[in-house]
Amino acid sequence: TREIHLAARPVGWPTANDFALVQRDLPPLAAGQVLVRNQYMSVDPYMRGRMNDAKSYTPAFPLGEPLVGGAVGEVVESTVDGLAAGDLVLHGLGWREHAIVDGGGVTKLDSVTGVSPSRYLGALGMPGLTAHVGLLDIAAFQPGDTVFVSGAAGAVGALVGQIARLRGAKRVIGSAGSAGKVAYLTDRLGFDAAFNYRDGDVHGQLAAAAPDGIDVYFDNVGGDHLEAAIGRLNVGGRVALCGAISMYNASEPQPGPNNLALAVGKRLSLRGFIVSDHFDRLPEVVAEVGGWLRDGELVADETVVDGLDNAVDAFLGMLRGTNTGKMIVRL
Ligand code: NDP
Repeated sequence: TREIHLAARPVGWPTANDFALVQRDLPPLAAGQVLVRNQYMSVDPYMRGRMNDAKSYTPAFPLGEPLVGGAVGEVVESTVDGLAAGDLVLHGLGWREHAIVDGGGVTKLDSVTGVSPSRYLGALGMPGLTAHVGLLDIAAFQPGDTVFVSGAAGAVGALVGQIARLRGAKRVIGSAGSAGKVAYLTDRLGFDAAFNYRDGDVHGQLAAAAPDGIDVYFDNVGGDHLEAAIGRLNVGGRVALCGAISMYNASEPQPGPNNLALAVGKRLSLRGFIVSDHFDRLPEVVAEVGGWLRDGELVADETVVDGLDNAVDAFLGMLRGTNTGKMIVRL
């Protein structure tokens, strides 16, 4: 079987040389384990942070060992009660064609008719939960709010905007990195307004899109997006600090927003969160988002890349924005 190892710690932007495709034999299955043939694996922005040798909320990936990450596959062999060959499972040992997983690390999935198993890595999985918890709990979204989300054409952002729309937002605004993605946000996802941050002047473009200000900012990007949002937030505005992808590949610390003092007079709340603290909420999210998906009220597009040989390219591409919706590798 084949798996991808972290060969070197990237400095700044990662390159293909930081990874190695390794062939190895599978050991025999021990008691309490299942052998899974992975069908889909996820590449996510947080993985970039785990490639650094720095203390964080998750440990660094070790060098010379297979990377890990969300994956969905079919059980081939099992020594675990309640799991049998043919079962569809979600687990945390992606970046490899076959995974030997302890029974406790496996969630059996009820295959929902008409929904690809890859959805459990996106709208019905970690990114869906992130969008839901971040918007509704962390940013305390209320119907009638005007919501701005950055990274809006990505896995999390696309769901944030649509959940806000479906739950009665007054206005939903998104930013993304190309003209095509801007059109996608308004034409396919039903955003009220969108802009391309690569055109520059994020402050000015946000002001034009939000003439009456914003009540909620869902931050996937950090940097000048966060600064522009602080400038545009109304009194009592709330920010969910979800990610800061504009800084993940910087080799030097980046400056913070230069207008943070506005948070005092505007009585703003800025709150960070980590999705793994909220996994108990996943069934609720699967029920709500799954219902909207089946009814066609919400779309959860994917950019699918085929083969483990192309998984590194999928990861590097995601960091640069080659994905619309969730980036998925089909194995
Ligand atoms: P996406 O599917 O959104 O993929 C990443 C996107 O980031 C790219 O498609 C690209 O889109 C955009 N991007 C890259 N560089 C920049 C930049 N310099 N400025 C603005 N946008 C940029 O990933 P996810 O939906 O999985 O993750 C979105 C964010 O949510 C990330 O910050 C991630 O770390 C965070 N996150 C946080 C979690 C938590 O627990 N707090 C859990 C899950 C995700 P474009 O073409 O528009 O530039």
